[in-house]
Amino acid sequence: MSDIFVLEDFGLSLNPEAELELTDGLAKGEDPDFVRRYEERSASSASSSDSSLVSYTAISPNKSMRTAKIDRITIHHMAGNLTVEQCGAVFANASRKASSNYGIGTDGRVGLYVPESYRAWTSSSSANDNRAVTIEVANSVAAEPWPVSDAAYESLIRLCVDICQRNNIPELVYTGNTSGNLTMHCWFAATSCPGTYLKARFPAIAEEVNKRLRGQTEDEGYKQFCEYMERYMSEAVKSDPSPWAKAACDKAIQKGVMKGDGSGAYNFQRPLTREAYLVMQDREGLL
Ligand SMILES: [Zn+2]
Repeated sequence: MSDIFVLEDFGLSLNPEAELELTDGLAKGEDPDFVRRYEERSASSASSSDSSLVSYTAISPNKSMRTAKIDRITIHHMAGNLTVEQCGAVFANASRKASSNYGIGTDGRVGLYVPESYRAWTSSSSANDNRAVTIEVANSVAAEPWPVSDAAYESLIRLCVDICQRNNIPELVYTGNTSGNLTMHCWFAATSCPGTYLKARFPAIAEEVNKRLRGQTEDEGYKQFCEYMERYMSEAVKSDPSPWAKAACDKAIQKGVMKGDGSGAYNFQRPLTREAYLVMQDREGLL
């Protein structure tokens, strides 16, 4: 197949079995000369509107001006185990006419190739890529089912959350077709991208991203605080006095100043309320 490139073609010393399924990003019939004339005024570096999760930047010449507002994310797989640097080297080749906004390596690092303000040439669909931020994810094993590492998966979730937050996308909606805002390459071209492993996880990816987006709300934060507080208090119930306080604690029990909760637990590590403090003062005859 002419649109499959063996990495060695690009002088990269990789597993020779590794292939890039980074098929031409331009849609069939699109005129590369038309889009290429934007290159003269294209940015050569990242802008402040891109993700702060990026740790490697190599801006690709393969991009054009966006004609639509960002409202979706398209996830691809590399069909190979490329680092963010190796992926950037492939996209640096202007004759490939392919690129993506971001790439994620098996080590979880994130690369930027096309600033979000530009349309990347990733999904063989002008209509999709003008509205999408596109992400290429490395496969930890370059064979069926084309898995990705846990580190890459976690980075993918974080990057999606970050893209949604910065572009005011309230949630990722996976519908199984192009009516949603989480899309895949194989809906626009004859390709197996994003591979069996990622394809099966699209609903879970949307769910996890949405959970984290909602988790940013105050109510969720307070709920989590209460859960942690409950855990902290139940730990404190079991705690014995610290060595330096042991003698005083024993004396307090002996004198009946400290009576515990009635079940034999004295809760020495728990915070003291004002009412408990006053009761103990009373028991000592100080009131
Ligand atoms: Zn793809």
